[in-house]
Amino acid sequence: MSSIFTKIIAGEIPCYKVAEDDNFFAFLDINPNAKGHTLVVPKKEVNKLFDLEEDTYNGLMHFARRVAIALEKAVPCKRVGVSVVGLEVPHVHVHLIPLNSMNDIDFKHKVSLKPTEFEEIATAISSYLN
Ligand code: AMP
Repeated sequence: MSSIFTKIIAGEIPCYKVAEDDNFFAFLDINPNAKGHTLVVPKKEVNKLFDLEEDTYNGLMHFARRVAIALEKAVPCKRVGVSVVGLEVPHVHVHLIPLNSMNDIDFKHKVSLKPTEFEEIATAISSYLN
């Protein structure tokens, strides 16, 4: 059975898309730790980060860096934090989280955003991508 992220990538489930290329996809986390919390995933469905082929791993990190640089411009913060967990969704994903305090990297700390806010943030991040 396909992961929920594979369904998002295929357009079968909606998301607030931030970026996409042939191999990678970025979208906003639906239950964000902080405003701008973004997930970056390889389109190829692999469970664990360090099981990725080296080229895919390197490509994922390269793509995540591009998104993180745009994210920091779109959502001013002290820095963008990175986390890889995967205990909920068994499809590799890099969490990019705008950090202003240690609370923001704590997955028990959540913020509530309206659909229009998600849309605005996704559009803003996209606009800073290069
Ligand atoms: P983890 O697998 O523990 O790294 O956590 C999975 C993350 O995916 C959580 O932060 C969820 O909020 C997020 N998530 C789960 N379903 C969706 C979805 N449909 N759209 C966006 N984010 C999601």
